[in-house]
Amino acid sequence: MSQVVILSGAGISAESGISTFRANDGLWEKHKIEEICQAGCLEYNYENTIAFYDARRNELQHATPNHAHKKVALLKESYPDKIAVITQNIDNLFERAGCKEVIHLHGYLPQLRCMECEQLLTVEYAKQNENHFTCQACHSHRLRPHVVFFGESAPMYTTLYQELNDCSLFISIGTSGAVLDVSTFAGWSDYSILNNLEPNNAINDSFFDKVLYKKATDAIDEIAVIIEEYLK
Ligand code: NAD
Ligand code: ZN
Repeated sequence: MSQVVILSGAGISAESGISTFRANDGLWEKHKIEEICQAGCLEYNYENTIAFYDARRNELQHATPNHAHKKVALLKESYPDKIAVITQNIDNLFERAGCKEVIHLHGYLPQLRCMECEQLLTVEYAKQNENHFTCQACHSHRLRPHVVFFGESAPMYTTLYQELNDCSLFISIGTSGAVLDVSTFAGWSDYSILNNLEPNNAINDSFFDKVLYKKATDAIDEIAVIIEEYLK
């Protein structure tokens, strides 16, 4: 288990041009959440849901990692066993910045998942509605985006809580706290840092020892100095 947890959300990828979730009154790229990322949407809204994630993969292909992804990757390289990099993001920008062992809590856009046997298939940026992908394990054609929808179980939360249990320095970057209660996580650690653009109702920032309301690319160097001092 790691001493430091760096937990990120959509905000860390915002400066790479990937829009955040709640940027426009709860609309993600002009879609209502229940239309494209709620349990059951593949049954009642299959075409639009697949098209939505195909479009996200296309967007991701044209995005590039920013300074915050790269700095986190360097930190992880320097302290592989002491830092856990955990993200709510489904993009691959940490990986493309060279970051190893990224824990994706809500799935991973470059992969599809077999609805029969759970086997994962890496498709990178390919569109599901232009290809006939087949599960390599059971040969089923019933594949879905490897994304956790609201109301579905998130198996990687077990890993998140194990890491939080043991960490003493907790860092939250670019998450609104609407899905994960980052204020509580801050209370569990010895020292905690919050980075967002601005305050919001889902986060009690008085639980954090250091609060940085600025762009992640502006905050990350200061965060890195604190981590390096801490792990010295
Ligand atoms: P959110 O959209 O609810 O909140 C974004 C947070 O990031 C806000 O607190 C905002 O102040 C902050 N922020 C915005 N720009 C920033 C910047 N440049 N620097 C620092 N902070 C910035 O995001 P969430 O809490 O991650 O929840 C959204 C859910 O949507 C997640 O579960 C995630 O799976 C999914 N999602 C993922 C992506 C992605 O993979 N890149 C994009 C959108 C949504
Ligand atoms: Zn299968």
